[in-house]
Amino acid sequence: MLGFKEKDKQFVANTYGRFDVELVKGNGAELYDANGKKYIDLGSGIAVNTFGASDEEWKNAVIEQLNLIQHTSNLYYTEPCAKLAELLCKKSGMKKVFFGNSGAEANECAIKTARKYYSDNHNGEQGKIITLVNSFHGRTIATLSATGQDVFHKNFGPFVEGFEFVPANDCKALTEAVDGKTAAVMIELVQGEGGVNALEQEFVDCIKELSAKFGFLIIADEVQTGNGRTGKYFAVEHFGLKPDIITTAKGLGGGLPIGACLLGDRVEFTLEAGDHGSTFGGNPAVCAGAVSIVERIDEKLLKEVTEKAAYIKENLLKLDGVKSVSGLGLMIGIETEKSAKELAVKALEKGVLILTAKTKLRMLPPLNITYEQIDAALEILREVI
Ligand SMILES: *Cc1c(COP(=O)(O)O)cnc(C)c1O
Repeated sequence: MLGFKEKDKQFVANTYGRFDVELVKGNGAELYDANGKKYIDLGSGIAVNTFGASDEEWKNAVIEQLNLIQHTSNLYYTEPCAKLAELLCKKSGMKKVFFGNSGAEANECAIKTARKYYSDNHNGEQGKIITLVNSFHGRTIATLSATGQDVFHKNFGPFVEGFEFVPANDCKALTEAVDGKTAAVMIELVQGEGGVNALEQEFVDCIKELSAKFGFLIIADEVQTGNGRTGKYFAVEHFGLKPDIITTAKGLGGGLPIGACLLGDRVEFTLEAGDHGSTFGGNPAVCAGAVSIVERIDEKLLKEVTEKAAYIKENLLKLDGVKSVSGLGLMIGIETEKSAKELAVKALEKGVLILTAKTKLRMLPPLNITYEQIDAALEILREVI
């Protein structure tokens, strides 16, 4: 059989180091390649397929909306968009939502909001935004500029001004960096691409105290950590943090592109008509699917996520060659003695799709992965690691 791999190599821009597999279909945490070989999916498309592949409820919600109308424009009202915004506000305690189509766009909205809020309250002056070393906030020029990793700060200059970086969990460095010119501090509660490292509670408390003193906004980038991934709806809940802005994306749409920028009390009226927009943002079919995802992330599911995470962690730590396990909930980093990339390739050959983050293996399984699938995947990881 002639696969589509060669065609992809010839015609698709060369921006990804793809694994050597052609995926064609799936069901929950089980995926199948072009040769009919089965895989257990520990990545869910980088924390996107919240309830796995081809989830019935999500699919039906999207199809139902497609049978009505697939897109209008943001010049008109549509029900799924309003419903999703209400749900997200209720889950988070935030006041309003702006919808875009990706994590980077959600963060663009957060950056624009923070800049405008600062300017509105400082006679039109410009503020700076502080982000963390090893953060990841996206691939657009502004979100790349906000990303605190040197590897991303080459080739594409000039970058956007107004970002400064401090090391994660370094309260002293943050204290030295913030002042009356600080518009916002932007954080991931668990740095995902940076190596699956959760922030320390003391550092989050430090941010809160400095924010109370200087008045800057706190932006939580929950693009990856949101929507039940860590065992809470949003990871801020683990830390008792009530940020001014929460951004989320990845798992929200259950597999279709969406990004959301949630605005709290202080900034709910900052963006006005004409200040920001997106052609596809809030698309009714995507939002209808997202509603079916968000409605199912209840206390029962979150408890299951926490229990599965504890089970996986406990069993990973028993494996020879596993040095440490990091992360929160079903966002799991595994430090091993061998090269993570090589291990991921070996796991693939044996039927497990697993990701990497920096030097670690990384698991972001669908939240509804079964214990049977977890056991089967752990057995393969044992052989490989
Ligand atoms: C993936 C990710 C982004 C970027 O999201 P895209 O949808 O790829 O634009 C931003 N922030 C965090 C924390 C992410 O994990």
